[in-house]
Amino acid sequence: HARHRGWNNYQFFSSEMTEAARERFELETHLRQAIEKNELVLYYQPQVDLHDGTIIGAEALIRWKHPERGLISPAQFIPVAEETGLIVPIGEWVMRTAIRQIAIWKELGVTPVRVGINLSALQFKRQNLAALVEELLNEHDIDPSLVDLEITESAIMDDVGRAIEMLKRISALGVKLSIDDFGTGYSSLSQLRQFPFQTLKIDRSFVTDLESSGDKAIVSAIIAMAHSLEQTVIVEGLETSAQLTIMKELNCNEMQGFLFSKPLPAEEFTALLREGRRLEG
Ligand code: C2E
Ligand code: MG
Ligand code: MG
Ligand code: MG
Repeated sequence: HARHRGWNNYQFFSSEMTEAARERFELETHLRQAIEKNELVLYYQPQVDLHDGTIIGAEALIRWKHPERGLISPAQFIPVAEETGLIVPIGEWVMRTAIRQIAIWKELGVTPVRVGINLSALQFKRQNLAALVEELLNEHDIDPSLVDLEITESAIMDDVGRAIEMLKRISALGVKLSIDDFGTGYSSLSQLRQFPFQTLKIDRSFVTDLESSGDKAIVSAIIAMAHSLEQTVIVEGLETSAQLTIMKELNCNEMQGFLFSKPLPAEEFTALLREGRRLEG
């Protein structure tokens, strides 16, 4: 009897796996064609200066406009792109598109702002990122400091030696480097000092409990550390004005979060820049 039930369970499990594997295969097949089919799109989430409330940058965040499934979030396809290596061509598309956006603002007569571009670990390994960035800077004749590459701790720790080497070459181009999702990885202070980061982005997970728990002390310590390394601090995921008040109190430099704006299509973000919208409070 038990064996029979076990067999049934196995059958159930197996068909679930088959379904998941089929879906995954379909996702991968379609993702391969997504670039040529023009289905990838960048949204831009404003980054705001906490002192004067002005928009001083944006993070470029990828979405996939799937013909059947609608707008797919990066959490649902970036992991597959990383496993399959598709993140390399996708990452190159992101880099080209985001840098071109800066040039488009210039053409439109809108004062361009810094754009944050997310990088995956594999892009360091498989691609000469410094050469790509240099090519794009030459192509568009834009201020290199408007380009801000966001890298997570784990992406660097994969191969520290190579990462330092590549980051230094990129940094020499005048491009900015940010450490993303800070506080979720395991990098030590001494390791961090070796990297030429200008900006530290505090992970959203620290913001949720800012009002109630010891997270405020941790955030305060992170900001003090970053400032001692002469880094700018951006806090991610601010949703309430109470959180905003605390982050100002803690001397944080910039914020990015739903309190000001969700990520927006390029045209909508450009409209905010034109309006000169500011964060109140
Ligand atoms: P991330 O780089 O840490 O980006 C910040 C994420 O936090 C974004 O999610 C953004 O929409 C979300 N967020 C910002 N403010 C708030 C807030 O106030 N509340 C809440 N609940 N969420 C907020 P998104 O766009 O879904 O992107 C998720 C992750 O996908 C990114 O995390 C990044 O790791 C990855 N990703 C996005 N675009 C790219 C890309 O072009 N290349 C690579 N390699 N990864 C990307
Ligand atoms: Mg990011
Ligand atoms: Mg982040
Ligand atoms: Mg994140």
